[in-house]
Amino acid sequence: MELPEFDFLFRERFERLKTREVFVGDVGIGGNNPIRLQSMTSVDTMNTSLVVQQIQRMVNAGSELVRLTAQGVREAEHLAVIKARLNEVGYNVPLIADIHYSPAAAEAAARVVEKVRINPGNYTDRNTGKSIYSDTEYDGAVDRIREKMAPLISICKDHGTAIRIGSNHGSLSERIVSRYGDTPMGMAYAALEFIQVCESLGYYNMVVSMKASNTRIMVQATRIMVALMHKYGSVYPLHLGVTEAGEGEDGRIRSAVGIGTLLADGIGDTIRVSLTEEPENELPVARTLRDLFASPDMEELFYRPAKLPINPAEYNRRETHSVCGIGGVNPGVVLTLSNSDFPMNPEGKLVGKEGTIVSDFMGLPKSEGDTIALLRDVDSIKLPVKGKGELILLAQPFSMAVNSTRSAIFRLIERGDTQPVILCYNDNEPDEEIYAVKAAAHLGPLFIDGLADGLDLLHPSLSDEVLCRIAYGILQATRSRITATEYVSCPSCGRTKYNIQQAVKEIRSKTSHLAGLTIGIMGCIVNGPGEMADADYGYVGSGNGVITLFRGKHPVRKNIPEENAVQELITLIQEDGRWIEP
Ligand code: SF4
Repeated sequence: MELPEFDFLFRERFERLKTREVFVGDVGIGGNNPIRLQSMTSVDTMNTSLVVQQIQRMVNAGSELVRLTAQGVREAEHLAVIKARLNEVGYNVPLIADIHYSPAAAEAAARVVEKVRINPGNYTDRNTGKSIYSDTEYDGAVDRIREKMAPLISICKDHGTAIRIGSNHGSLSERIVSRYGDTPMGMAYAALEFIQVCESLGYYNMVVSMKASNTRIMVQATRIMVALMHKYGSVYPLHLGVTEAGEGEDGRIRSAVGIGTLLADGIGDTIRVSLTEEPENELPVARTLRDLFASPDMEELFYRPAKLPINPAEYNRRETHSVCGIGGVNPGVVLTLSNSDFPMNPEGKLVGKEGTIVSDFMGLPKSEGDTIALLRDVDSIKLPVKGKGELILLAQPFSMAVNSTRSAIFRLIERGDTQPVILCYNDNEPDEEIYAVKAAAHLGPLFIDGLADGLDLLHPSLSDEVLCRIAYGILQATRSRITATEYVSCPSCGRTKYNIQQAVKEIRSKTSHLAGLTIGIMGCIVNGPGEMADADYGYVGSGNGVITLFRGKHPVRKNIPEENAVQELITLIQEDGRWIEP
């Protein structure tokens, strides 16, 4: 299997990747259209008045497209009732049906709404436990996909309906896994196969997404997908999202890291931030991310090396030597260099101190020659920073500077410099939640590609405690340092039949001290187990008010009433010897 070319990712100045324009109703996605914001309803699709009220709130908050789950033909057909009711109250937002497993539901929905979302993993042959496929068997399976897809494509062509081909990590077919593994490459090839099937049927109205709760996988899969589309023909618009991102600050940071990294690459035509909260809460986060990259600093200087010094399709940490426990094999560090060490000038930029010894450097042991070179911008990369025992502090200005910072680190790699790099982010943003999103979108991309060794957040009024919490959240979301329990929770949808938001809060409050453990909290048993991918434990809705607990991929306690399920989860973790007292 050939790795595609990634040259398109690293250009000399920021520009959005050109994609084919696709229409969802009268909303254009891709081409020269702005990045579109969307969200998804979380209430029962059959409950018309609740759905309509929720959609009104979402649209009022800025959602330009609205997705609803349609688990069967009944729900798919009911979308016509919802559409009519929305029209009556003056809301003409294009609707998207979210389909899993049911070609019949997809075909019913495609007659009613403007777009259907299908998962390639659900359209292929049933899994049989086979791990090796001959070329003939493989090609035969693709032919059967074409047969299964043909009726849907015909309806979409007749009705002008768009399709999103959405690959999800954890729900790839065994055939794809047999050839590519459960990997970013597998996710991309699964979608490419569908694109080629659709094109062979004369259909081109497609949007593509690669989703995972692991931000590295989501980024790598999307980059590979773009590269494959480049190689094989049309580049279709990209829908970006981190699945099961969770809620609160963690969910926002994780979304900002994944979506922000791709937006910084110039990739992304529509975004959905998925939080286990009311859907209208997703829109301010999505808007912040879109706006950060909608008008990047055009002065931003890029350095385009002759040979790309990183592999955008896999994680590798930049080789550095260790200074004061920073860099080398040490996990990412959080520093609290106070504003007094690096005072801001009136424009808010860090000033001075290049090459000086920092005396109160977090109390870290320091030796003769431990110095900090402060690189304010790409020009200052010409500073003589060679030599052991130096840290490089890269100060980012307010404006979006991911690419100039990345360029600066590329220069270090090219020169063979191995000094660790600390990223410094300084912003006066008054809203703490938005500050966290912006910091994660600025710094996350550098950690996702293994280019940084630590970070230092500055703000004129937020406390060190808050800044450290956000900084550790960014390290956790980029998997640069795991210091907390990892939660993977879906945003919920019409399939959820228990109070997931309450469950997430309760589980977090009781298990947040179990650093290193991953707990999936999922709305339904149809998709939850596949989508929580590599969680250690799963808390999954399996009917009205009942929960099934998973250990890894295996259900171990079934249909527990939700009132008792959190305690049962704790008991399970205790029995496994993985519980520690808070
Ligand atoms: S896992 Fe959650 S968001 Fe996905 S289909 Fe099930 S309930 Fe809906």
